[in-house]
Parts: sequence; C-alpha cells; structure tokens
Amino acid sequence: MLAGMQTLSEIRALLAEAQLAPRRRLGQNFLIDANLMGKLVALADPSPGQTVLEVGAGTGSLSEALLARCAPDGRVVAVEADAGLGRLLRRRLGERANLTLICGDALAGKHAIAPDVLAAAGPEAVLVANLPYSIATPLLAEALATTWHTDHGSAATPCALRCLTVTVQQEVADRLTAAAGVGAYGPVSVLVSLLGGGTIGPAVPPEAFWPRPKVASRMLRIDYDARAAGRIDALDALRRLLTAAFAQRRKRIGSLPRRCAATLEPAAVAAALDAGGIDPDARPQAVPPEHYRRAANALVRCDLGR
Ligand code: SAM
Repeated sequence: MLAGMQTLSEIRALLAEAQLAPRRRLGQNFLIDANLMGKLVALADPSPGQTVLEVGAGTGSLSEALLARCAPDGRVVAVEADAGLGRLLRRRLGERANLTLICGDALAGKHAIAPDVLAAAGPEAVLVANLPYSIATPLLAEALATTWHTDHGSAATPCALRCLTVTVQQEVADRLTAAAGVGAYGPVSVLVSLLGGGTIGPAVPPEAFWPRPKVASRMLRIDYDARAAGRIDALDALRRLLTAAFAQRRKRIGSLPRRCAATLEPAAVAAALDAGGIDPDARPQAVPPEHYRRAANALVRCDLGR
C-alpha cells in the first residue's frame, strides 16, 4: 500500500469531520485507487532530496505519498485553493517539517503561476498532481513558460519545473500531445512539443475517483527539454503568434497578417511566415511546431512585432 494513501471511507470521514462536501466547481474528484496513485508516483519518480510541487492537495492523500517518497532531505510544496480543505490539511499535515502548505489559488489570473507558489517551490522543483480540470491547461503551459524564463534569466520569480507528472482529463491530454493535423492540435500542443517531450501514462477511468467524474482521465509526464527550448529566441513572441494564428483556426494562415494587425505588425508577420516556410494556404492546425518556432524567431529578428 502506498504511504498515506486514503481509502474512500477515510476521505468521506475526513470531509464529514470537517463538515465539507466535494465541490464540483473546484474539480474535487479525489483519486481513491491506490494502484493508480502508485502509478502516478512511479511515473513521476521523484528522487529523495527533490522539491515536489503538488497543486490541488485535496485531503492530502497524494501529498503524504510524496512526503514519504522525497524524505528525508526533500520537501513538498502543497497548494490547495479550498479554504476548508486548507484547514483540514493544516490540521493533519501542518506539523511536517518538510511540507510547505499554501492555501490559495495556484494561478494568479489566467497567465501566471502565483508568485508565492513559485517562491516556495523555487529555484527547482518537479510538479506532481491530480489536476482539477479548470486549471490543467493554463497551469501546465505556465509551468513550461516559467521554466523557459528561469533558464533565460527573465523570470520574475525563478522556478525551473523540469518534470511535470499529472492526471488530467483525457481531452486535455489529447490537446497537450496532439500532432499537427489532428483536431486537438492547438497552441498548447505546439508549446509542449517545442519545450519538452510527453510520455503518455496509464488511463484513469471515472470509477478511480470519488465522486465519479463524467469522463475518463489520463496520466501524463512532460519532461522539459532545455536544448530544444533554447532554440526559441523569445517565448512571448511565439505565444503571441500562436494565439493570433489559432484565434480563427478555420482561416488560411496567409490571412494572419491582416487578422492580427491589432497586436502584431502585419509586414513583420508576413515576412515571418515566409521565413518559417509556412504555406499561406495552410490552416493553422496543419502547421508543424517547428515552422511556428522558425516564424516566431524571424518575427523577433525583424524586431517589428508590436
Ligand atoms: N490531490 C487530491 C487527490 O489526488 O485526490 C485531490 C485532487 S482534486 C482532482 C483537485 C484539487 O485541486 C481539489 O482539492 C481542488 O480544491 C483543488 N483546486 C482546484 N482549483 C485549484 C486552484 N486554482 N489552485 C489550487 N488548488 C485548486
């Protein structure tokens, strides 16, 4: 049995004692399958001595397994947005010397990880989490971006998150790992592909959670690839280009210079698409990650992006 793993009746009892009930809005589906929880920890494979960031600690089932795994020198930074669960966690695990508990939102708005979370986890940590649906995509995109900015000396709060092991809804996993040409392909697929490599882990059926979600989930590990990421000259330019390109994914990419005039210089975008070897007749969904990278680098070299 995995250290600290809570059964369904233990989670029910903990919530009842704290007079709490699962909140759907916060994606509170607790993983109750010990075998699958063990698989998540095995996929992450954190070493003793490492700092592990857990987002969405819930009742602390995974947190305890992670604490056992990275003892005696490592530590766990556990973040929980629900104030009631935060109090429950503090009562149960607050005394642990190698645990930092943060009660609050892991994200600061949609486009940044909360600075106090990064400050607590930095300068280097791995992320291991059963993520709530609503924050999975932005959190993983920002974790990769923060690592890029940390490596390039431009992070406001340096924190390199070089390994991200998570359970997410199958649909999110599909988006994160989609190749060009596939329906799920979008900005986050390009980011994952250019900044790291994804390993698909075990499928997680709805009955592995309580309460049962409507859809299946998937474990996934993304390893940041510093060499590949180093070929991106300016991540923000790449992200702006991707946002603009996928804003109207049915339109030919050749119309992008005209469409994105409010945020990017049209002449520079036209030159950048050309430098990226992008066929103007292609739809944004058909353009491979590498072509977006080359186009974004050209955009930066022109120094014409607004
Ligand atoms: N770690 C537990 C487990 O493995 O069973 C619970 C995982 S549950 C899928 C997701 C948890 O994330 C919930 O406890 C929820 O309250 C918390 N959560 C939701 N949104 C959050 C946010 N923005 N920041 C931090 N935690 C959040």
